[in-house]
Amino acid sequence: MQKYADFVEFTDVTPSAALSVARHGWRAKCLQRLIRLDLPVPRTVALPADTVRAIAAGQLPDTEKLVAVFGNDLLVSVRSSPENPDWGGPGTVLNVGMNSDRHAALTASHGAEAADALYLGFVQSFATHVARLDPDMFMAPTGPTALATALAAYESETDTPFPQDPARQLSDVLRSMARAWEGTTARLLRQAKGAPAEAALGLVVQSMALGIGPGLSGSGTMQFVDSITGAAQITGRFRGQSQGRRAAIATLYLTKDARGTSLEETSPEVFAELVAYGAACRKKLRDEMQLEFTIESGRISVIDAARVQRSSRAAVKIAVALAKDGIISRADALLRVEPRALSELLHYQVDPRSKRDRVAHGIAVSPGAATGRIVFTAAAAQASAARDEACILVRRETAPEDIRGMHAAVAVLTERGGVTSHAAVIARGLGLPCIVGASDIRLNARDRSLTLADGRLLREGDVITVDGSNGEVLLGAAQMLEPALDDGFRTLLRWADNVRDIGIRANADTPDDARTARMFDAEGIGLCRTEHMFFDEDRLTVMREMIFADTSADRRVALERLLPMQRADFTALFGIMAGLPVCIRLFDPPLHEFLPHDREGMRELAEALDRPLSDVTRRVEALSEFNPMLGMRGVRLGITIPEIYEMQARAIFEATVEASKSGDPVVPEIMIPLVSAQREVELVKSHIDAVAAAVKTEMGAEFTYRLGVMVETPRAALRAGEIARHTDFLSFGTNDLTQMTYGLSRDDAGRFMGSYVSQGVYAEDPFHILDVEGVGELLLIGASRGRETRPKMTISVCGEHGGNPESIAFCRAAGFDYVSCSPFRVPVARLAAAHFALLDPKGRDRD
Ligand code: PEP
Ligand code: MG
Repeated sequence: MQKYADFVEFTDVTPSAALSVARHGWRAKCLQRLIRLDLPVPRTVALPADTVRAIAAGQLPDTEKLVAVFGNDLLVSVRSSPENPDWGGPGTVLNVGMNSDRHAALTASHGAEAADALYLGFVQSFATHVARLDPDMFMAPTGPTALATALAAYESETDTPFPQDPARQLSDVLRSMARAWEGTTARLLRQAKGAPAEAALGLVVQSMALGIGPGLSGSGTMQFVDSITGAAQITGRFRGQSQGRRAAIATLYLTKDARGTSLEETSPEVFAELVAYGAACRKKLRDEMQLEFTIESGRISVIDAARVQRSSRAAVKIAVALAKDGIISRADALLRVEPRALSELLHYQVDPRSKRDRVAHGIAVSPGAATGRIVFTAAAAQASAARDEACILVRRETAPEDIRGMHAAVAVLTERGGVTSHAAVIARGLGLPCIVGASDIRLNARDRSLTLADGRLLREGDVITVDGSNGEVLLGAAQMLEPALDDGFRTLLRWADNVRDIGIRANADTPDDARTARMFDAEGIGLCRTEHMFFDEDRLTVMREMIFADTSADRRVALERLLPMQRADFTALFGIMAGLPVCIRLFDPPLHEFLPHDREGMRELAEALDRPLSDVTRRVEALSEFNPMLGMRGVRLGITIPEIYEMQARAIFEATVEASKSGDPVVPEIMIPLVSAQREVELVKSHIDAVAAAVKTEMGAEFTYRLGVMVETPRAALRAGEIARHTDFLSFGTNDLTQMTYGLSRDDAGRFMGSYVSQGVYAEDPFHILDVEGVGELLLIGASRGRETRPKMTISVCGEHGGNPESIAFCRAAGFDYVSCSPFRVPVARLAAAHFALLDPKGRDRD
């Protein structure tokens, strides 16, 4: 076998040593940087990845050469040093080199207690990590005989005395760490964190700085920001160690603290030195670092440093502070924050430090967390809100008539559904935490209870917490962190806006949504789903009268009552958006969604309309369809019952005139849903043009408007060239387009999506991440055919994908003008767009 001396290469970590993160790992490189900063780092040697790999493959290490670096009294630690700290690695082994001689010497110099503790610690980790003996045998013993017991246990288990030769100990430790890295579990774990299959491990061998001795001695960690909030604050610990005959120095607080003695008070010079090291690291390593140190009789050794672990809110604060202090560029600050992480900051969040009593799990479709009492109906949610009592609406799935209940609830939980089901779309729009597809709960609608997977029963009124960020339902009230829309957040997004090159609008249906959209600096409304405006109690009845009208004249009477309400809606939206574009989609859903579904509801409706119950039942039945999502909806309603679109167009134009009086002229955008043929657009356009002309004459006002088509059917994408003749913009409704391209119901796919994704049929849920190969091709075809007819055509996406970073990358590369998403996803979209512009400045196929 090849000798160690032939292949082992190790590098003394000195300021000028040739070390690279790729070969020696992040820890070795970091320690070199600390040394360059003149920090007191103990002698350190780095083993590169190829050496470690060779050791794992069985090349017997002749560690004499390595031992020689540290001298005869070898006492070292071995730490892992992968390329990326997040990839983990085998745990550190301390005090390699401890043996009876060393133990005796330490007993004489530092006392038996300290010497025993060090030797015992090493025997325990060697026995369990290197010799792979049962940890139970080595962890239990305590007291003065513990060391002897552990040594005896080692001998009886292995039939050999505990190894005394430091070189042999070191080679065994190196081999065991190298092999642990190659193990299947370790491999799977790091791959789950994004490590490539061939990820390699470096190792770092460092002279032990024991942290024992007379005077101030011990070990600790220190960081300079709070990991959860990101606020500048010194945190960490300092533990004094037992010093043989000298009294133990207790655990100290780092900074002055009313609860007890602190390092800052007991040893201000040591404290100041550590603070200075921290400041130097922040500046030169360009990040917030946690220092690991020991102190021996007042002398500091910095043995390690690592990036401070940070929550999303801390990540934003730290990045902005570093950029403001001139330590990193604004571009770096932007790239250091993961866009998706921003959504956590917009909502209450379960405090990660608190305990979680998880009782169910589902698909996390709208982030944030909320606690409330369980209610099972929209009416109960409204009653609860009227009592000022927070409630969580739990439904099998939600339907349009649940909207008022959703408005009243603080969170929503459904047994069924997927990422684009009704509950998910509405909850995201409202910024409500929401979990759908919680198939491990069973709803018992009749007795208003739900059964948990373990058989427990929860009843109406019981308190739960919905964590829409990770899909967990918790029993009781969890501890919360407040939203963090602070200066740091706003600053970072302002910087993002300065670099991104694709527009971001919001989908907003109500004045509240529009205000949220403004709060998050959306550049306009990309989709206002007008049907949501008709679910208010006073409007629903008029709406139903309109649906029940027998003649066009009767229908017009009902629509005339809806007109002022719609006009007020649009005036409010235009006012709030203050000149920013507002894209209003004409009525889309099948009419039967506005009708009651149970007998009681129908009876109430019969009463309200003063009609016989049989009339109502017949009408409801007549409107019911086998496939409503493919039936009389969208533009098909606009063609067959043109009065509805005419009323909406009139409301839009009258509001336009009204809103233009108090500011710059408003140019409304009107969008036709579910188009599949050119002629549909021609017909609707001629009706809308006629309404525009009438309003201009009646009001003696001038205005213009932009007409657009929502591309939601594959045919509309394919025929975009001719459709574009009549339109100013095309907006891809990727929810319906995905549904129709796959022939996959967006409301039912959740039932089997998990199994499809886990078996690799689909790489991802296509309702969540845009299917760039199939649906994406339709987008590209539609956009290019549309622009062939009209080169200046505005092209956008307004389906749920609009808020998804991967989909934004696709739209940007394809040269789309903007994406539009739920208001609460706007910040994520703004930052993601900035990332793409920074990472791939030439990757946009337009301007
Ligand atoms: C779509 O289909 O992508 C869309 C935005 O419309 P809705 O979700 O209202 O059907
Ligand atoms: Mg649609």
